Amino acid sequence: MYNVPADFINEQKVWDALENNQHPDPSRIREILARATEMKGLTLDEVAVLTCIQEPEMLEELYNTANRVKDTIYGKRLVLFAPLYISNLCANECLYCAFRASNKGINRHALSQEHIAREVEVLIKQGHKRILLVAGESYPKEGLQYVLDSVKTIYSVKSEHGEIRRVNVNVAPLSLDEFKQLKSTNIGTYQIFQETYHRETYAKVHKGGKKKDYNWRVWALHRAMEAGIDDVGIGVLFGLFDYRFEILAMIQHINELEDKFGVGPHTISVPRMEPATNSDMASNPPYPVSDADFKKIVAILRLAVPYTGIIMSTRETAKMRRETFAMGVSQISAGSKTNPGGYEEEDDISGQFSLGDHRSLDEVIRDVAAMGYIPSFCTACYRLGRTGQDFMDLAKPGDIKLHCGPNAVSSFKEYLQNFASPETVEVGNQLIQQTIDSMSGVARQRAEKLVKRVEAGRDDVYC
Ligand code: SAM
Ligand code: SF4
Repeated sequence: MYNVPADFINEQKVWDALENNQHPDPSRIREILARATEMKGLTLDEVAVLTCIQEPEMLEELYNTANRVKDTIYGKRLVLFAPLYISNLCANECLYCAFRASNKGINRHALSQEHIAREVEVLIKQGHKRILLVAGESYPKEGLQYVLDSVKTIYSVKSEHGEIRRVNVNVAPLSLDEFKQLKSTNIGTYQIFQETYHRETYAKVHKGGKKKDYNWRVWALHRAMEAGIDDVGIGVLFGLFDYRFEILAMIQHINELEDKFGVGPHTISVPRMEPATNSDMASNPPYPVSDADFKKIVAILRLAVPYTGIIMSTRETAKMRRETFAMGVSQISAGSKTNPGGYEEEDDISGQFSLGDHRSLDEVIRDVAAMGYIPSFCTACYRLGRTGQDFMDLAKPGDIKLHCGPNAVSSFKEYLQNFASPETVEVGNQLIQQTIDSMSGVARQRAEKLVKRVEAGRDDVYC
């Protein structure tokens, strides 16, 4: 059973906040930006003001403030992961997705455990350490056990090139008891996107299957946290409805999780709708989000929930990804495929949607490093039990830099030694030296020590 309070995601409150804060004057905007640099988050009204900024000069100030906050909390660190689509079977009818049940235009597969293991080997060989397991909402005859077994399979693959150290999961909402079973497989983050918080739009675009039930989905993160999953990920599919409404509604959702569990989501994903096989809606989103608005969304989220990671996937082009790193993105996928079995074999039509960035992990890493960002494969927090509230306690006083900075450097060094092309090694080693030179005190000592251990042949070192 689930009891969603009647006023949970209060649409009237969202519209009122937007109505009352239209056409904000520059002094009010600057006041809010100054408050945002205290890194304590923002109120619904303050966020509403930021969503209404139009003037280029004010937008520039918004971007610069987001940049400063991102730098203070995260430094120049970008966490990398690969999605692993284990199945594209689905019983739902989401009009924007190629996996929807009635789409006859794609080949359907649920990978066997052996096939999953082979896909994982390919990813490990590329240098990946984090996987996001993804599936449609219909499993082979074993039901949820299929997902549980798949997580176990991913962790069990040990190759001469290493292993996967954190499995995050994006599957349809589960019951409390099922979430407990999922937790017992040692997942990292459980993530689910509401797609749209606007109930009328939600009903229009989810035409069949269990996903039609807005409340079942919107309360999923409550059940997950109640089941003991500390790290949860939230998101909206941008393009379905007015992005300003979606941001404010998502802030309500986050506030509710913080009130109830003392900690909000670990990550926010910002998927923007991409073309998908046989979906008119995906090619012509009802509320297209321009590149300029998309950057604004990232900047506002960075200020509104400063300690929550922002994830950007390969849906976006390399150019857009570069532009948003500076303003708040802290995790990216790289070298992705969205069709089950896609890492072993090409299949252009069976993916979930089209990708905007087709580069390999090595190319993405070289590009990111050339921009001065340290690609991080670190999984220390999760493995040391620094999740949920413990992670936030660490993050909030700014200590994140004392741990994550050195760990990012050593995990990057490990990547360079074991997986990178000669061109990437050159760019990467220079960046590691510059990064260590820019560090001081404990962080620097730790980084130097960890890098020396990696150079001496040790893998998987962290603090
Ligand atoms: N099937 C589960 C569900 O819907 O929650 C989990 C996996 S689903 C494959 C992951 C996400 O892909 C969805 O939540 C949706 O936001 C996103 N997605 C679906 N169609 C998309 C499209 N055309 N462009 C971009 N993202 C899309
Ligand atoms: Fe199925 Fe998820 Fe795609 Fe909807 S978004 S059709 S539930 S895979």
